[in-house]
Amino acid sequence: MRRIALALVGVLAVPLAAEAGLMDILESMKPAPPVRKEPQLPPLPPTPGRGKNWVGDRMPKKDMPILVLAGHADSQRMYGSGTPGRAVDIGGAAPMQAGMTDELYWNLRTAKAVVAEGQRQGLEITFYDPGVRTIRNGEDPRTNWSVGAEHAAKGGYVVEIHYDAYAPHGIGAGIIPAVAFGFSVMDEALAKEFGAYPYDYRGMLGAPRKVVSMLEIGMLEGALEAGLRDPSQREATLNQIAKRVVTALQEGLEQGQPLDMVCRMRGRVAADCS
Ligand SMILES: [Zn+2]
Repeated sequence: MRRIALALVGVLAVPLAAEAGLMDILESMKPAPPVRKEPQLPPLPPTPGRGKNWVGDRMPKKDMPILVLAGHADSQRMYGSGTPGRAVDIGGAAPMQAGMTDELYWNLRTAKAVVAEGQRQGLEITFYDPGVRTIRNGEDPRTNWSVGAEHAAKGGYVVEIHYDAYAPHGIGAGIIPAVAFGFSVMDEALAKEFGAYPYDYRGMLGAPRKVVSMLEIGMLEGALEAGLRDPSQREATLNQIAKRVVTALQEGLEQGQPLDMVCRMRGRVAADCS
């Protein structure tokens, strides 16, 4: 013990001694290497929140890119694989696709429909699919949340599509807002269309902590599930959902734009645009 202490004194004393050269002094003045800034999370409320207990007022950056993810795309055959839906779990229907929950099947279809509609409307919007359906290591760079966190750190907006469990397990439609970097007007706009969860839902979920907002489209049961499962209604159901999401995203984006830009986005001239 004593020998270690003495050895340490020896190491520490050398650069500060009178014989320290110019390089030593410069070296000691070098700023610390940059540490990756961890997003600051808001504190948890004293009692768990109910309903919308947040206001999204952080403006989007101009031409902010939007990334859309399909919830549970990297977590099949493990905890957190998403809801099987009422038709499969209670009704005994066959899953839409072997190897994945019906929720993931519809998350994928919906995310793709949202991106297709967004691109039709001229948004800078893309879809990311990890492809690998089971990634156990949360730090793996291919996961939804790793790619989402990277996108958000560069100033983009990330939304992950979900369907909620059927009653009495699910809650229903709503946006669960990303909690780091402040609440966004994008989430505020989605809240107007779909409703909202408290920001501290279940003690703040993993995705929102990673700056990934989660959009619950609705419970996977009843008319919504039937509309998705019925081949004759499927495309119309997906398109209707996609239009609702994209309209809300447009509204969020417009809040960060000067009026003339908003008018152009709506395909109108400033004089008759309000
Ligand atoms: Zn989900």
